[in-house]
Amino acid sequence: MLSAELLVFDFDGVIVDGMQEYWWSARRALLTLQPQASLQESIPESFRQLRPWIHQGWEMVLMAALISEADGPLQQRGVMAFVGDYNRQCKAALARFGWEPSLLQTTLEVVRANAVRADRDGWLALHQPYPNVPERLKALAEEGIAWSVLTTKGKAFTAELLAGMGLVPARLDGHESGPKPQVLLRLAEEWHLRGFVEDRRPTLETVRATEGLEALPCWLVSWGYLQPTDSQQLPNGIRLLSRDCFASPLAEWH
Ligand SMILES: [Mg+2]
Repeated sequence: MLSAELLVFDFDGVIVDGMQEYWWSARRALLTLQPQASLQESIPESFRQLRPWIHQGWEMVLMAALISEADGPLQQRGVMAFVGDYNRQCKAALARFGWEPSLLQTTLEVVRANAVRADRDGWLALHQPYPNVPERLKALAEEGIAWSVLTTKGKAFTAELLAGMGLVPARLDGHESGPKPQVLLRLAEEWHLRGFVEDRRPTLETVRATEGLEALPCWLVSWGYLQPTDSQQLPNGIRLLSRDCFASPLAEWH
């Protein structure tokens, strides 16, 4: 029997824009650690610019701390110079504040858990689907293609957010399922994978470098949290997915 066709989507930065939630949680986590910190409630432009470099939750809290400074390295160097030296800058900032990543991560998770308990609907509302994306996902059925979600978020929250958008994927894998390449390999045993859609270029590069996934078509969405040079000189097998291309039938994606 021929296996069914499946298109796999990352969640954050592809289906949903979680920027508001990131800032809300990062700001609250920093205020827990530094109650005297001064941080605006609306998303600072510098946080939007930094977002494509942020990989793990604790980095969001560290960025909030750096943004709150009057004359720290972010202010002195500017965002683009800062991210040019991102890992070293993170290490230096952790040392200066006397923080371990685990402290920031735990603080962030407690803030989130409390927010969900106190006002679940309000917390869910901090996540907005990208325009036309839910509609396009629903329309994939007309092409005979099933779609699934593969995310580093938790499965239960992701399912709830998807349901809030009226979306029910054929499958949903959260961080509990393991690293993305391994999940894709498992999916490929049951489905005919038509591709993987992501907004994080290094993840796509890792997928393509994984034995058994070398031929998996990969798309980098143009509307996600991209670094300015991410869409340039993409390696073979990874293509940029524009909004127009996404709106066209899968067979016409290029
Ligand atoms: Mg993403």
